[in-house]
Amino acid sequence: MAQLVLLPGKERSVFRRHPWLFAGSVGRLEGRARPGDTVEVLADDLKLLGRAAYSPKSQIRARMWSFDADESIDDSFFKRRVAQSVARRETLPELRGQDGVRLIHAESDGLPGIIADRYGDTVVLQLTSAGADKWRKAIVNALVQATGCARIYERSDSDVRGLEGLEPVTGWIHGEAPAEPVSIVENGVRLGIDVAGGHKTGFYLDQRDNRLLLGQLAAGKTVLNCFCYTGGFSLQALAGGAAHVLSIDSSGPALDQARANVALNPQLPAGRAEWQEADVFLALREFRKEGRTFDLIVLDPPKFAPSAAHAERAARAYKDINLLGFKLLTPGGLMMTYSCSGGIGLELFQKIVAGAALDAGRDARIVKRLAGSADHPIGLAYPEGEYLKGLLVQAD
Ligand code: SAH
Repeated sequence: MAQLVLLPGKERSVFRRHPWLFAGSVGRLEGRARPGDTVEVLADDLKLLGRAAYSPKSQIRARMWSFDADESIDDSFFKRRVAQSVARRETLPELRGQDGVRLIHAESDGLPGIIADRYGDTVVLQLTSAGADKWRKAIVNALVQATGCARIYERSDSDVRGLEGLEPVTGWIHGEAPAEPVSIVENGVRLGIDVAGGHKTGFYLDQRDNRLLLGQLAAGKTVLNCFCYTGGFSLQALAGGAAHVLSIDSSGPALDQARANVALNPQLPAGRAEWQEADVFLALREFRKEGRTFDLIVLDPPKFAPSAAHAERAARAYKDINLLGFKLLTPGGLMMTYSCSGGIGLELFQKIVAGAALDAGRDARIVKRLAGSADHPIGLAYPEGEYLKGLLVQAD
């Protein structure tokens, strides 16, 4: 096995159990290693620190599989880690009885580059690093064993694979396509999931708890759900007794699925739902001109800043929609506002929202800080895992 020897002092992040070794930390590679191969990681004094997946094309040159010098990386390693990750979810009360659960949340579950989402008895697997890609078979076997799922669909088509020199890979890798379309029941609402064509693995499971909270706030309210995707927030608002729910997204297929989702729930008052295919930035300006207002607004935009390098432009975009949101909010109204950008920290996000309220001339306060659901944990040694942050704000 090849050995990756770190530069002096660069073992410190490994001692803190951070899973990434950047190109600038690596002194030399002893021996030969192909992309995704397991390498031994050594400090400058040649002390063995653990084992990692080598990724010569990426700035993240290696991702630690294990910090235990005695642990080998083999099929049984993945069996153990995957089983642990799945079992961890079983201890969390809010996940009990949920059909849609993230089973593996990559680095934060000790499995860099591996995401697995369960939708009923279908699991969707996304491999984003060279190391994860190499161990596909072991990961699939481990998932089947840990979950007893009927089928696994691979959705390894995320852009970040390009940074690792990997081509997209998609298709059924265990079992066969189901006879019925995949769907889940999330807190009483049925949602169809397009595992092959939807965003990410088909759905945004990280917002589950926040969608439930919106439903609890919605009774009698006029709701505006911006960036609604397939209507997860909208359906919870309808279930919670909202007077009217206007939902906006720029994606036609997402809105088709959203309408289909309403039809899957005959108990919901479909007549109170309005769907609009539009650019949120333009639509909100239009509402402003028309003098339209809403009691409850959700702003859940896509990642404007994939990395810190995009933070400034992203900050302007967040400021813009939040400012418009505040202007459209009725007195006493509530706004749930999110950023899922890794490049925008919580503190900065809060400053942006504060600036937006100020410019909109609204006095507002945070009533609750919001985050991803419990099946999207954040490794204590891996602050990069905290991508989703939100604020529930109330404006006078
Ligand atoms: N809240 C959703 C997830 C939102 S993901 C849920 O709970 O499932 C972000 C969504 O924003 C995507 O559906 C994408 O199609 C949409 N989107 C991206 N840019 C947009 C824009 N400028 N205007 C409207 N929608 C946009």
